[in-house]
Parts: sequence; C-alpha cells; structure tokens
Amino acid sequence: ANKDLYAVIGSPIKHSKSPWIHGQFAEITGEPVEYRAVLGNEQDFAGSVEAFRSEGGQGLNVTVPFKQDAFDYASEFSERAKRAGAVNTLVFREDGSVFAENTDGVGIVRDITVNYEVAISGKRVLVLGAGGAVRGILEPLLAEKPQEVVIANRTVSKAVQLADDFSDLGCLVGVGFADVEGSFDLIINGTSASLAGELPPIPSSVITPSSVCYDMMYGAEMTVFNQWAQQLGAAEVIDGLGMLVEQAAESFFIWRGVRPDTQPVLQALRASLAN
Ligand code: NDP
Repeated sequence: ANKDLYAVIGSPIKHSKSPWIHGQFAEITGEPVEYRAVLGNEQDFAGSVEAFRSEGGQGLNVTVPFKQDAFDYASEFSERAKRAGAVNTLVFREDGSVFAENTDGVGIVRDITVNYEVAISGKRVLVLGAGGAVRGILEPLLAEKPQEVVIANRTVSKAVQLADDFSDLGCLVGVGFADVEGSFDLIINGTSASLAGELPPIPSSVITPSSVCYDMMYGAEMTVFNQWAQQLGAAEVIDGLGMLVEQAAESFFIWRGVRPDTQPVLQALRASLAN
C-alpha cells in the first residue's frame, strides 16, 4: 500500500528521535505513514523543502536551526504560531498552501498537566530563558491561567521584550536572573545552559518542598538544573522527554486527525535512554 510521506528537517538531523517516535505512532494507530529524517540546507531552507514536496511529502516537523525559516516559508498560521514567530510543524495542503503550527507549547503543557497531573492554573510560574523554545510555549502556558509568570533571562532585554509581547494574555514580567524574588510552584528551565552543564544563576530560595521543576532538556543523566532542584528538596523534577513525545503526538494529530497513545512510546524511549 502507498504510504503518506512526512519527515523532520533540521541540521544536524542524524540524532533526531522523531523518525522513531512517529514510526511508533504509525504502528500504534495503523495510519499509513512513512516518516524520514531530512538534512536541511542551511543556506537554502526553501530549496530543501521544495525537494521534499516534489517527492510527495505532505508535512514536516522542523527543528534547529529552521523554526524561523519555516515560519517565513508558510502561508497560513494558527494564532499560536503567529505569536511564536517560529514553528515546528508544516502541512502541505492540496491547494498548494502551507499551514504552520507550533506544537512545542501544547507538548510541555500536556506533559505537565496530563502525564504528571500537575495543575498550572492559579500557580506562580518561573520560566528561565527567552529564546525560541520559551517564545513557543508562552501562549499555551498562559492559556492555563497561571497566577503569574516571571520570565528570567541572562540577556535581560530579551526577557522584558517577551513579557511585553505576551502581556495581553496574562500577568507576566521579564527580569534578570539576579532579580528573581520569592518562591515558585512551577519552574521551567528553557535555557540551553544544561547543554553546557551550566546552571542559570538564580537564588535557591525559588524552590520550596512543593515546587515542581521542569528542564526542557533530556538525556541519559539528570541535568545539572534538575540535580540542583532535587538537592534543594523540590517536590518533583521532570525532564523534556515527555515534551518531545507530546509535541510529536500533536503534530501527528494535525496531519492525520488521529491522536496516538503516547505512554508506551514515552516508556520505550525512557528505557532506551538509560542504556
Ligand atoms: P535559543 O538558542 O533560542 O535560546 C537559548 C536560551 O538559553 C537563551 O535564553 C539564552 O540566554 C539562554 N542560555 C544559553 N546559555 C546559557 C547559559 N550558559 N546560562 C544561562 N542562560 C543561557 O535555544 P532554544 O530556545 O531553541 O532552546 C532552549 C532549550 O530548550 C534547548 O536546550 C533545547 O534542547 C530545549 N528544547 C527542548 C524541546 C523538547 O521537546 N524537549 C523542544 C525545544 C527546545 P541569552 O538570551 O542571554 O543568550
């Protein structure tokens, strides 16, 4: 039988877990989906996409460094994608139009609220970082109606700008790491500091025994941020693996209209990380 073609595009792309995840989704749902990894040309994103479309490609996931290029390439956007200015999901429609969505935010919110059963509504939330990943999650996060969101970033002006851009959606403020005050119910590390084994320099008083900490990064070992939070007695420390699987499931749903069960995929991925 002929399968419908999708892929993830990035540079580098070799280590992407998306082909495996979507392969599992296809198996679980029985959808006729073939999913590849495409190495994008950093000088010519549109060219790489056109080549994929000419092979019959119906949709793409987009990862580093192309999320903004994908936004520029698209012709129609969800409200959420428009806000984010960066997208991780493209749909190539039969009429030739290109629809763009950002599923990263839905992914992290679903991981926190459904998988970990942690409510965001009414909570004090601290978000570390003001890069593309944080911009992508703010709208779905604010839709959960937290009491307040404090965005803290190394480059303070970027945190202030982000808070300003989303200020109509909720109570939020942008500050520098040293100016973070008080404690928080939920702390999300959306910086790439963990990649370098570094810790954003925030006061340890942000963490109480009821704080839930979420590092968007994931790997075989616990990130320095989650180690730090655990040592300070946080109620729960979570890594970004669930966000990865949930954003993929949301993309799959957009393309296929079918929502795969994420639990077996997440468990298998977790087990493979440990090896
Ligand atoms: P960007 O490059 O757009 O932003 C990086 C952010 O990290 C900036 O706010 C930057 O601050 C900050 N930063 C970088 N190094 C340090 C440091 N040593 N100390 C403190 N702050 C630092 O990256 P993205 O927003 O795209 O990605 C951020 C993280 O989120 C990555 O680790 C990525 O792997 C993860 N991610 C996970 C996903 C998942 O599905 N689990 C999905 C998307 C992203 P400044 O502005 O001052 O430079």
